[in-house]
Amino acid sequence: MTVFLCERMLRSADAEIEPNMAVTVEAGRILSVAAIAEQDRARVDAISLPGLTMPGLIDAHTHLRSTPAIEQSKLPGLEFAQWTVALNGMTPVPQRLDAEVAAVEALRAGVTGVQVILHSFGDRQQRLAELSDAIAALEQTGVRGLVVVGFTDQAEYARPGADSGFAPHRGMLLEEWPGFLDQARALVAAASDTISLAIGPVAPQWCSDQALEVLAAARGELRVHTHLHESDTHREWLGDGETPLARLHRHGLLGSFASVAHGVHLHGDELALLAELGVTIVHCPNSNECLGVGQAAVSGWLAAGVQPALGMDSQATPKADMFAEMRAALETSRLCDGLLEPVNVLQFATLGGAAATGAPSGEIAPGKFADLVVLASSASTVAELVSESDPGDVRAVFVGGAARWPLSAQQLEAVDARTVELQQIVSLDSAQRQSRIGALLSNFTLESYGGAR
Ligand SMILES: [Zn+2]
Repeated sequence: MTVFLCERMLRSADAEIEPNMAVTVEAGRILSVAAIAEQDRARVDAISLPGLTMPGLIDAHTHLRSTPAIEQSKLPGLEFAQWTVALNGMTPVPQRLDAEVAAVEALRAGVTGVQVILHSFGDRQQRLAELSDAIAALEQTGVRGLVVVGFTDQAEYARPGADSGFAPHRGMLLEEWPGFLDQARALVAAASDTISLAIGPVAPQWCSDQALEVLAAARGELRVHTHLHESDTHREWLGDGETPLARLHRHGLLGSFASVAHGVHLHGDELALLAELGVTIVHCPNSNECLGVGQAAVSGWLAAGVQPALGMDSQATPKADMFAEMRAALETSRLCDGLLEPVNVLQFATLGGAAATGAPSGEIAPGKFADLVVLASSASTVAELVSESDPGDVRAVFVGGAARWPLSAQQLEAVDARTVELQQIVSLDSAQRQSRIGALLSNFTLESYGGAR
């Protein structure tokens, strides 16, 4: 058992900040939360936490990349469709290294839990290696992770029937998916209990009906995560009147076990359906802004009864910063209708993330995971906390009651070296990358993407 003696505490996004609170933790979970008593201070297992202790933040949609993909691949004037093609020209980096740095950056930003979507076209062995790398990076840092293996079996760069002039090599056949999932399950079962597995179509419009059927049949108890209605083109992708959302629903892939990312282009009846089914929508305001896919009117989600979460989509720049993401959500709301408040966006980043990942976390309460962040903050309200905080304020991070941040000077040095190594790989490849992306784009026609059906 451990007792944390918190100088100040915010139990949950909608609470008041309280002074001198004790949190008792056993086996990774919170046993009790109460005012500090005299006997608490005398305990040998007591740990004093000066500053403001709050629930750990949850990044509910990430690709666990350490540098924004957009930095490598977004060229001036490029449309979203072209950018998705350009992504295929990105500099290949050692994935383990990339994931490790991304996981450390998450910790540095006060993130105790992530939902990671793995989107690749590798063969079975490569995909298992990617999953192992993500698991290893999360285990090494202690960040709690729901790792989603994403599947597609259709062209992502041209509507069905149209030729995009470009198709990535697809290494795994539909028939292999169930066997691959068994192996993925085994990998996660052998990992630490902070790691869980989920599945999903990378996006439903990029999966055939047969593929969605296979996923639904193989799902078992696993959670589902996917990109949904990110751009208006994707919403209308199949051109047959059935939206990607409707297809997911038809295949039984929506429910309280599911979360969907972006949801920029959702209509009122669709929001009502998602609310009724208990699906969480992960708002990615910064990513939506830099990809130019439109602005999600999130107060409409709340009005419909949907629980939003918050995700950085591995696009935060220059560094992962969930407080900046919360402020981006407020800024987007200001441009849409101005109805979101700081307490809402903090709730998205905590309890919303818990809903998106199906974890008992997001608040400091008995029975919940002891996932805590300690900030050097003099904020006296949630509004001040959201407007003033950044990763530089993060003093300590605990996951399941275990201290994960700060790292030792030696560990930080090693991470810095890895970061430099990655930057060098990316910058040395700059000219080749430009020409790869140029070649991909010269083969690609926007007509096949936006027009032909
Ligand atoms: Zn994404």
